[in-house]
Amino acid sequence: MIQRSVKTDQNDLVDRISRFLTSPPEGTPAEIIEAFGEVGRKTFLPPKLFLETVEQAPVAISITDPEAHILYVNSAFERLTGYARNEVIGKNESVLSSKSTPESIYRELWQTIQDKRVWQGMLVNHRSDKTEYIAELTISPVNDKLGSTAYFLGMHRDVTEMHQLQQQLKFQKNLTEAALNAAPMVVVMVAMDGQVLMDNHAYKALLGDFRGVEPVNLFLDALGQQIGFDLGKVCHVGKGFTNVEVRLDPPGGSGSPRWFSCSGVHVPELDEAAQHYFEQPEEARCCLLLIANEVTSSRNRIQEARLNMIRANMAEQQMVQTMREAISGAIFKMQVPLNVIKAALSMPGSNEQSGLVRVLQQALQSGDDAVESLHAALPSPVVEQTTLVNINELLHEVMRLSTHALLSAGIVVDWRPAPVLPSVSGRINALRGLFKYIIDNAIKAVIEAKSSYREIRLETYVDGQDLVTEIMDNGLGIPNSHRLKVFEPFFCGWEHPKEHAGMGLTMAQEIVIGHGGSVEIDPDFFRGCRVIVRLPLNGVEDNG
Ligand code: FAD
Repeated sequence: MIQRSVKTDQNDLVDRISRFLTSPPEGTPAEIIEAFGEVGRKTFLPPKLFLETVEQAPVAISITDPEAHILYVNSAFERLTGYARNEVIGKNESVLSSKSTPESIYRELWQTIQDKRVWQGMLVNHRSDKTEYIAELTISPVNDKLGSTAYFLGMHRDVTEMHQLQQQLKFQKNLTEAALNAAPMVVVMVAMDGQVLMDNHAYKALLGDFRGVEPVNLFLDALGQQIGFDLGKVCHVGKGFTNVEVRLDPPGGSGSPRWFSCSGVHVPELDEAAQHYFEQPEEARCCLLLIANEVTSSRNRIQEARLNMIRANMAEQQMVQTMREAISGAIFKMQVPLNVIKAALSMPGSNEQSGLVRVLQQALQSGDDAVESLHAALPSPVVEQTTLVNINELLHEVMRLSTHALLSAGIVVDWRPAPVLPSVSGRINALRGLFKYIIDNAIKAVIEAKSSYREIRLETYVDGQDLVTEIMDNGLGIPNSHRLKVFEPFFCGWEHPKEHAGMGLTMAQEIVIGHGGSVEIDPDFFRGCRVIVRLPLNGVEDNG
């Protein structure tokens, strides 16, 4: 019923306007005739409706003349500013200025709106009671038919609370950043695609140490090898991982390895896309928060203590070895005259009753007794169990044991390990002694050669079923005629032979053969010496 009567009123109004438009009174302004012409159209909205809409809008609205003198304000303006409309109509909008806004902002505001463009920004306003608030203001010019600015439309809202929240957030962020930067450990947040989202000073310092190579990639590779960690599956790592020790090798061999104890947790990523405003997508994305504590110095201390133990162990082994060599040498040397005596006694015509023969028999007897005592005094060889041995690590360890000798002789070590090397089954102490012996020989050879450039190169690789280690030096070299002899007992080709028993390479060969392998001097290497040690990958029988 009500709807019908409204429609009837409207039709009546349209009829009356139509009649007015067919014969407008003389002197009626053209704008009035044009404005009433809109009334009959379907899209026509009465000005009153516009006014009510603006009046009831929740945002503070004002309309000014081109000089910013206020012509109209809505109720929200009154509520927000505390001014009744009759107090501000006719006044400049500057009545709201708290004088805390820099003049440059106003200048930019005016430049923009006078260029007939929309200005948006923040101003500090005060209310009628002089309390300040932050106004987020939009001013848009309203042009007349000729394109000149007739009015300005201003819309603003109080964003003080939002600003306070933003400030608090900024403070929290600064606080978190300060705490992270003060922390001595490396902290980095990395997205699933490997992008670094956040890091701290310690991480940046590491980035500098690694000459710009992103350390997070090295961490992820090392964690992949150590615990099979995969960044693409970071959301599925459960509670994460803690205290996983990884080794990072500075890129390009630019420094000694560094050790880190790593912990990681996954942090769910929030999707910012508009379509996920109400509901986050089912397939979750996560970031990894990685915390890495450097443990290089404690690791080095432990390693140094281990090396000292190995040194002591090797010195003991060396002593036993030297004693065995010396006693074996003495037995060998005693055998020579004893054999001569035996030969003399067995010569035809030697009279058992003659004094000389009796003396020789006594000498032979005491000689045999002495040889027997020497045999009894031979220290028994060390019995050792077999374990899995990583030859790269073993060689690295032997080089560290020889660091002092290498440095004092000015020898450059060219270390070329196979990146991935299977372990061999072997007696670790015996193998360590073997390589130490060969490397010590290489050091002696380059020193005796007295050349200005001294180099030792170590290389490991797999050849078929063998793990091959090559130890090359640019020293004196071994002539082809001595290539096999050097493995014979008591052979010595050094400049000062008295210091050597000549049993070292014999023992080395014994150790290699005991492991089912071989050792040879490369006959085709002429710029020094190349020792090639082959150890079978299928291991050795545990023959002690
Ligand atoms: P003023 O001396 O009035 O102005 C400072 C600088 O602004 C001047 O040096 C000049 O570079 C520029 N300027 C001022 N008036 C003009 C002009 N007519 N033509 C060209 N340049 C000019 N200000 C607020 O502080 N809060 C508001 O909420 C606010 N709302 C506004 C809404 C509208 C629709 C418009 C048009 C302006 C509004 N202003 C508002 C701006 C206001 O009119 C003043 O310019 C401002 O408050 C600075 O006033 P003042 O007395 O401190 O300095």
